[in-house]
Amino acid sequence: MADETPLLDELEKGPWPSFVTEIKKAGEKNKAAKDLLGVLEKSYKDRITHWKHGGIVGVTGYGSGVIGRYCDSPEEFPNAAMFHTVRVNHPAGWYYKTDSLRKICDIWEKYGSGLTNMHGSTGDIILLGTTTDNLQPCFDALTEAGFDLGGSGSALRTLSACVGPSRCEWANIDTLGLIRDLTMEFQDEIHRPRWPYKFKIKASGCPNDCVASIARADFTIIGTWKDSIRIDQAEVQNYVRNGFNVEKHVVSRCPTEALKLDPQTGELKVKSEDCVRCMHCINLMTRAIRPGIEKGATILIGGKAPIIKGAYLSWVLVPFMKLEPPYDDLKDLLRKIWDWWDENGRTRERVAELIERLGLKTFLREIGLKPVPQMVKYPRSNPYVFFDK
Ligand code: SF4
Ligand code: SF4
Repeated sequence: MADETPLLDELEKGPWPSFVTEIKKAGEKNKAAKDLLGVLEKSYKDRITHWKHGGIVGVTGYGSGVIGRYCDSPEEFPNAAMFHTVRVNHPAGWYYKTDSLRKICDIWEKYGSGLTNMHGSTGDIILLGTTTDNLQPCFDALTEAGFDLGGSGSALRTLSACVGPSRCEWANIDTLGLIRDLTMEFQDEIHRPRWPYKFKIKASGCPNDCVASIARADFTIIGTWKDSIRIDQAEVQNYVRNGFNVEKHVVSRCPTEALKLDPQTGELKVKSEDCVRCMHCINLMTRAIRPGIEKGATILIGGKAPIIKGAYLSWVLVPFMKLEPPYDDLKDLLRKIWDWWDENGRTRERVAELIERLGLKTFLREIGLKPVPQMVKYPRSNPYVFFDK
């Protein structure tokens, strides 16, 4: 094998695990995985991809969840001539029991190449490489095991969330419950593509944003709090006693100068109206500082990767929303946004691009939201935008 793939072999050198090694291992048992190595080596040699789009493939009743992949050299690599990708909706927070993972692997060894990607950038379990004939039986076996397909194409993509309250003391919302609820509610939107383009929803329990939802979701949900951060002064003193420089590492690095360390009493004070809930002080002084009590979420809109008009970070749409089951306000807002986008969007136009083309004012009027200063994308570049006291 080593002689046959000299360019790929280079990628096995160095300290890191190599996907080439893993494909080689799979290739010992599976002909499609073995041919995949050949296709890749050829691509590296020719400096051009040997995958082509070959049309729509899917399973009964679903318009998304499977991505058709065909090799342009089927005579040379007959076992990788069709190498479709199956997206499987992951559980919120990516929690599995080992027997569930075994089931998925057994199903995929039976119907596909055995190669998986845990997880794709949308969050799904990605099963790499199967034939058109195997799609339906593979899907039947997956549903039998309790799994469903995720989104692909111009549909709602598989929703994802950070581990939230299951493992993290900073979670301000139940990210797992919320994402499961939205996933069940919007099954039709996930499985049946009918929009101008894709739409992604991601939820982080706090502004640390461990799922990078600001950069990667059209609709970003970030857990936050409305009242003040909570400061335990005795713990602040412990930090000081143990030699931690609160002034240098925390106070001076608060982005809005909301913190003050009283030089006389050593008390750490916060001017709550100036705090932008960035998490910096909380991250550094975990024992002394906690988020506030009145919890909810900030909703942002428009994050996306650079496909048509460049990369966007999402910006604030609703500064604070209480988020409790059955999440009706959130669902209403989503439906209004989708209606407007579906009605006005051009093919392959993401919601942020449509807002930019028709204007934030039009968008807000159509979805029934009043403009507030927090929605301004670049407040510091415009000296005429003021926040009310
Ligand atoms: Fe915890 Fe916040 Fe990260 Fe979620 S985003 S895992 S709540 S730190
Ligand atoms: Fe300052 Fe951020 Fe702490 Fe708020 S959360 S007080 S903005 S460092």
